[in-house]
Amino acid sequence: MRILVVEDERKVANALQEGLESESYSVTLAHTGEDGFFLASTEEFDIVILDIMLPGRSGTEVLSAMRKRNLRVPVLLLTAKDAVEDRVAGLDAGADDYLVKPFAFPELSARVRALLRRGKPEPVLSLNVEDLHMDLVSRKVTRGSQSLDLTAREFEVLEYLLRQQGRVVSREMLARDVWKETARHTPLDNVIDVHMVRIRRKVDEGFSTKLVHTVRGVGFLLKAESHETDQSS
Ligand code: CA
Repeated sequence: MRILVVEDERKVANALQEGLESESYSVTLAHTGEDGFFLASTEEFDIVILDIMLPGRSGTEVLSAMRKRNLRVPVLLLTAKDAVEDRVAGLDAGADDYLVKPFAFPELSARVRALLRRGKPEPVLSLNVEDLHMDLVSRKVTRGSQSLDLTAREFEVLEYLLRQQGRVVSREMLARDVWKETARHTPLDNVIDVHMVRIRRKVDEGFSTKLVHTVRGVGFLLKAESHETDQSS
């Protein structure tokens, strides 16, 4: 079981690491919100223990950013005494539990065990927008009654757009998260654009409701084309 501990106070962080390791957990430490977010989004953890009071990016901000990225790992927040607003904001941001400082290690350990018992949420088996349906198990994609024939990469790009639906996806995000390339370069941008043209043709051609949209100068957006008049009614 891997635990990420995000805590800027070295003493507390080291004590947590020592205690958790003595219970056979594997512990990774981060001392800033930025490092914590980076580790949480690039490595697999079974639990994240996240201090709210961090220099720079707060624990609550890190948590919101994680949930926006669809990172659903259980998060146990550490909050200061009397900071009721922090706890409310933390739970609203998607925390699974919280513990008020100072706490006794056995209590933290019990909370960790409880979160692990609860387990990971059910995996998502399918993604939908309008009449576009993606089955993540059989890897079949349909629009209405039509089956769409996608290449493996087109499937990955469309899956990413579906997971981010309603939000603009930049070429940079696609390069990083789908192509796994950290540095953007022109040839890759061209490859991305070619894929988007093909995906748009396969998804939207022959349908009056368009789902794949280009946001000029920013990126792409997957959503059902809406009409202003419909929204105001
Ligand atoms: Ca702190």
